[in-house]
Amino acid sequence: MRVRFWGTRGSIAKPGPTTLRYGGNTSCVELRADDGTLIVLDCGTGAHDLGVALAASGERPLRGHLMLTHTHWDHIQGFPFFVPLFVPGNEWDIYAPGGLGQRLETTLAGQMEYTYFPVTLAQLGATIRFHDLTEGSFAIGPLRVVAQYLNHPALTLGYRLELGGMSIVYAVDHEPHAPHLGGGPGESTQPVHGEDRRHVSFLTGADLVIHDAQYTIEEYPQKKGWGHSPAEWATDYAVAAGAKRLALFHYDPLRTDEGVDRIVDVCRKRVAASGGALDVFGAAEGQVVELLEKGAARPAPARRAAPRAPSAEQQTVLIADDDTTIVRLLTSTLEKDGFRVLIARDGESALRLARESHPALLLLDWEMPGATGVEVTRALRGDADRALREVPVVLITSQSGAENTAIGFAAGVTDYLTKPFRPAHVRSRVRAWLLRRHASSRGET
Ligand SMILES: [Zn+2]
Ligand SMILES: [Zn+2]
Repeated sequence: MRVRFWGTRGSIAKPGPTTLRYGGNTSCVELRADDGTLIVLDCGTGAHDLGVALAASGERPLRGHLMLTHTHWDHIQGFPFFVPLFVPGNEWDIYAPGGLGQRLETTLAGQMEYTYFPVTLAQLGATIRFHDLTEGSFAIGPLRVVAQYLNHPALTLGYRLELGGMSIVYAVDHEPHAPHLGGGPGESTQPVHGEDRRHVSFLTGADLVIHDAQYTIEEYPQKKGWGHSPAEWATDYAVAAGAKRLALFHYDPLRTDEGVDRIVDVCRKRVAASGGALDVFGAAEGQVVELLEKGAARPAPARRAAPRAPSAEQQTVLIADDDTTIVRLLTSTLEKDGFRVLIARDGESALRLARESHPALLLLDWEMPGATGVEVTRALRGDADRALREVPVVLITSQSGAENTAIGFAAGVTDYLTKPFRPAHVRSRVRAWLLRRHASSRGET
């Protein structure tokens, strides 16, 4: 498997003298399996040069798989300039997180409307198939692909690709759910937050992890909620996961080449201090990494279609909180996205409403009159009704202490929404919780 970085920058392209070595183009990575299967991860401005190189290679017809993590500008700006899409006879499968009214084809067509671009999506010459994904595993040629939601203010998927005993994880535009604790000599390297543990297991044993490293730990407090990781925590996760190599990726547009050098140095020292053997490097535009496919390329074990996201259908969300400002913010955000919202002001009525109306998701305040969010969760998890035992329950809290976090998870809480939060974050997390439930109820995860 050959990996080539065509764009490593986050947020906005940043050409110029300060980014010459690590590159100024936004996210785009090319993977070539030994059998020729072509995968492109994200389609930022780096995709332009990749498209030119693919066209010059003379491979006709060209078949490829473009896997988008999400559709923020820096991950799709190269799409209308990606030459192989214009060539009749070429075939492209394009994947991105979708569902609950979010359709990839519509989003990409929007980017190519007359106001923005002279060629419409429908005018592209290649045969294009769109796949709206949820979490789950599926096969692309000889590869097994696992898609998992990341924490970002847009519905975002990370991809794990496995082939012949080798694995690569691409996890960009991801923010840790809770501050990473431990990791020093003799300390536990496992995070406290259930979602962070899930993230670590997503990276488990990977030969190469390509990870969001937009910030440093010092910068992070000012950038909390923006959906990106400090490079040091990305390193901790890769160490905890027993990964072999970590490519720092999605650099802040203000990060100079020397700044990346410093971060790489800090992360390498962190690995050494933890006693780990992880090899950390800063991904650079044009860099090629060769990975050994240990076994012969053979059909992926789960020869299954990509997990399809459900189309729009109205779902009910129950909000229980005595803080009217929070209720108003959540209600207006969710109703704009077409959800039906039920409101309770205390724990007892939350439980009664949940039993009466079977919501698809509950957002419960930790502290409220009658019964706390944790007590309501315990009651639901012990209910005779299976739907209530399994419904996603999210606690609204301003406490992010490890002890409290652990109490909630022990009671059966699915996740936390920590104040202060922004509408974009609520929208993406609500979608992820609902779509994950949908996928797991269909046995797709
Ligand atoms: Zn990005
Ligand atoms: Zn993004």
